[in-house]
Amino acid sequence: MRYDYNNIVGHENVIEYFKRTIISQNISHSYLLEGNEGVGKKLLAKTFIKTLFCETEGRVSPCNQCTSCIMMETGNNPDFFQVSSKKVSIGVDDIREQVVEQMDIKPYRSKYKIFLIAEAERMTVQAQNALLKTIEEPPSYGIVILLTKNPAKIISTVHSRCSRIRVLPLSSKIIEQYIQNNYELEKWEAALYADFSGGSIGRAEEMLEDEEFWQLRQKSIDYLIKLEDANLIELYDIVDAIDKDRDNIPQILDFWLIWYRDILMYKMFNDDRYIFFKDFQDMILDRSKELSYNRISNNFNEIIAAKNRLDKNINIMLIIETLLLEIKERKK
Ligand SMILES: [Zn+2]
Repeated sequence: MRYDYNNIVGHENVIEYFKRTIISQNISHSYLLEGNEGVGKKLLAKTFIKTLFCETEGRVSPCNQCTSCIMMETGNNPDFFQVSSKKVSIGVDDIREQVVEQMDIKPYRSKYKIFLIAEAERMTVQAQNALLKTIEEPPSYGIVILLTKNPAKIISTVHSRCSRIRVLPLSSKIIEQYIQNNYELEKWEAALYADFSGGSIGRAEEMLEDEEFWQLRQKSIDYLIKLEDANLIELYDIVDAIDKDRDNIPQILDFWLIWYRDILMYKMFNDDRYIFFKDFQDMILDRSKELSYNRISNNFNEIIAAKNRLDKNINIMLIIETLLLEIKERKK
């Protein structure tokens, strides 16, 4: 059974909220779940929906036995609708056809009729306005659940109609544990993925299935190592190479941060326990001897500053160029 609170890692607050909602029979006609991509919004929403449809009396979580529960698992519940669109945005026609018109028809076998709109930020403003009427005056059986990673794209009138639930990122520790329980990986590898997951199990799983993650990791470190012996012309070759990898720059910077953190850890504790780049251990050790504390922490801070500047949308390659010059020029 996929949709069961017992299968959800973390998010105790949200689960508790959904359970209390059912106990108090204080069920809202519209919900908005906000949270990063892959953090677990859909899993939470579908488990809640499955519970609402569950036919066993007095349940705050799905019984997994009744016809409704089984239908939710197989995707055959006639009173459950997932709004979709093949286009980039979810348009006003999509909402009219898939929600507004459907909502007028009474549920087929349940006391509810539930509509799930994932990636709600894809709805155009017109589409959201079309939806607004339905969530302002819903029939007694109607429930609409919106999921979004970008609440700023949801118009305020829709916002204010919905019960809003924040689905927060999970801690690295929880994700690391999850990876270790589900994949055959060394602890340091699990920790590395957890670190890059942004608090999202979905994102971690995506990376685990993505060979490019390891290639990018290798490439990122290659850039730094090349930089050490580079003259100015070679430095600009590195900038050019990174330019071709533009989409990956945030991740490259993350790898660089971990690189210097590793060097710092080795220097402080002379112990490989804290190291993420285990497969580069000898190189880390060399550099921990070579570089001063001052220089390591300066490089570290420069990378963080560059990351912040990236968020502000300033000329990306200029940021990288400046960063490489900083790292390069700072002598021991
Ligand atoms: Zn059930």
